[in-house]
Amino acid sequence: VYNFASGPARLPDAVLERARDTLLLRGADGACALERPFSSPAFRATLERARQRLAALLGLPAGYRVLFLAGGAMQQFSMVPLNLLGRARCAAYADSGYWAGRAIREARRYAEVAVVARYQGATPLAAPPLANWPLPDDCAYCHITPNETGEGIAYPALPDTGAVPLVADATSCFLAGPLDVSRFGLIYAGAQKNIGPAGLTVVIVREDLLEREARYAPAPYCYRQQLAENNTVNTPVGWAIELAALVFDWIAESGGLAAMALANRRKAERLYHAIDTSGGFYQAPVAHGHRSPSNVRFQLADERLTEPFLQQAEAAGLTHLRGHCHVGGLRASLYNAMPQAGVDALVAFMADFSRRQG
Ligand code: PLP
Repeated sequence: VYNFASGPARLPDAVLERARDTLLLRGADGACALERPFSSPAFRATLERARQRLAALLGLPAGYRVLFLAGGAMQQFSMVPLNLLGRARCAAYADSGYWAGRAIREARRYAEVAVVARYQGATPLAAPPLANWPLPDDCAYCHITPNETGEGIAYPALPDTGAVPLVADATSCFLAGPLDVSRFGLIYAGAQKNIGPAGLTVVIVREDLLEREARYAPAPYCYRQQLAENNTVNTPVGWAIELAALVFDWIAESGGLAAMALANRRKAERLYHAIDTSGGFYQAPVAHGHRSPSNVRFQLADERLTEPFLQQAEAAGLTHLRGHCHVGGLRASLYNAMPQAGVDALVAFMADFSRRQG
């Protein structure tokens, strides 16, 4: 059975097997990874291992710090303004779809939000145009969502925000390929796509941004304090960090982020090609060049076939293909752990389904 869920998503089989062994292994202190106190040397070693593995994968430049925080990506919708606004009143946001919209709504609690670019809502869908963003002089940062999980839209390139730090909600594209961290002031990603279990979020922050006053940030939500206290202001999600370290190892052993990008591109190209060459039976609503390799959104020209498609796909072992609840249709999420064989099986099923209809 191939699970195409957008998250929590499929984890690599090898990671699950290692996780099972790790879970059952009690150390000399009588604790396994789920039970281990965060003050223990064993937990600190896990944290350091996860940090180092991630830094190695990304080629993390000097001057950036990594946090493994409890809570989902949505907590960052508040943590970002609480920590980065400093004395500024305003923050810039690009509206690229559902998740950017939610980030904007949360930021409005703390800041004046300037929406500096918008996606084109009409078909074919496209990311916000990249040029001429009217960044206000006094804006503290500019926030983007490089991959919109629901709409299946990905930016073709990063915007140039000059001296204004670029902040990214990279939840659904993190570790899907190489990432030039030096382009960003801050990157965050909920773990449940390419990192590990839900409830863990990775934050990568440029050190100079930590100097900003974060007067109203609750202690566990304060990046500076979390870094000063080695990620342990409150109880860290130790088991999730342990799992993330196993995923980082798996990526490295599989050839690193360049290999992930190559495999992901092949999977996405195969599925988009099947949609585009279906004679209009299947349709992809996102414009070429803006199509997400991670979340392939498509629909049936005859919408009445959506439910039979989903039911028959499930019976064929192809699960969780329903589109995001706010956009409808179908969606296949092709994160790192989805093997090419899963996409091949989906493409074969789609051809067979369309043949049977017509
Ligand atoms: N941002 C993006 C791009 C997402 O895809 C998601 C969830 O899938 C979120 C934010 C919200 O993440 P969480 O549910 O971990 O808060």
